[in-house]
Amino acid sequence: MKQTKVATILIIIVIPLISFYVMNDSEENFTVPTEKTKLQVLTSFYPLYEFTKMIGGDKVDVEVLVPPGIEPHDWEPTIKDIQKMNQVDFVVINGLGFEEWVRDLSNFKNLSIVDSSVGIKPIIKTESKSQTISYDPHIWLNPNSMKKQVQNITAELIKRDPQNLQFYKKNSESYLQKINVIDTKIKDRLEECTKRDFIAFHDAFTYFAKDYELNQYTVLKSSDPIMEPTIQDIEEVINLAKNLDIKIIFTEEYVNPKMSQIIADEINGKVLILSPLEIQDKEKTYLERFEENFKNLELVLCT
Ligand SMILES: [Zn+2]
Repeated sequence: MKQTKVATILIIIVIPLISFYVMNDSEENFTVPTEKTKLQVLTSFYPLYEFTKMIGGDKVDVEVLVPPGIEPHDWEPTIKDIQKMNQVDFVVINGLGFEEWVRDLSNFKNLSIVDSSVGIKPIIKTESKSQTISYDPHIWLNPNSMKKQVQNITAELIKRDPQNLQFYKKNSESYLQKINVIDTKIKDRLEECTKRDFIAFHDAFTYFAKDYELNQYTVLKSSDPIMEPTIQDIEEVINLAKNLDIKIIFTEEYVNPKMSQIIADEINGKVLILSPLEIQDKEKTYLERFEENFKNLELVLCT
């Protein structure tokens, strides 16, 4: 199945690309020399789009592959997306298996994929049933690994466009500084809080919880936010919330809050949003949403 898909893609994209180059070659004399155009970068999903935009500013054209409102966990590129990937300078991915579709693109030798997770110590997924090790991909929700992603993207921009080194460096440093401020705020606040347990909707906060010494539990057993929990799962979470004396059950912006509401009703609690920040909200910046998230988490940990 996969092989057929790759073969189709090869026919549809690679062959036209070859003819395009041949055509271009013969028309070389007619092309008017233009100024160096901006770097063209594609990013797999929203946080990486925003990081790249913050560092690249007006020197880089950045686009995001996963369309607005779409949950990126199960998203797969269309042929048009792959064509786009072939045309840009590079594609930034989260890495750690978040973009499983990258494996199917190994035949595209011209594709330049930048893995933003390089240098981050991965956490192994505990729910994995298969023999092969799989990693938790949610590194963008931890200030330390988020910073590493920003640094990796910065390094690639500088490598591709060294003329603007100072520009990228300055933007990157100021963004890293903003992340540091948030990190310090969280640490200071947590020092005043006695509770350490929270119930997220899906297991997006493992890296976050590890660094701040918190315990993440989840409404969903699976790390896939579109999976519906079973009755038994719900009962387990109700008991867990009672045992941990938790009164707030989290949901996410783009999932049905019904499951979290059923649990909250059983414990006389309420439902709030703890966003995995996987889908863009055009009204707010990534870091604003990151802080907002923590305000909701504080209501569980600090009251
Ligand atoms: Zn997730």
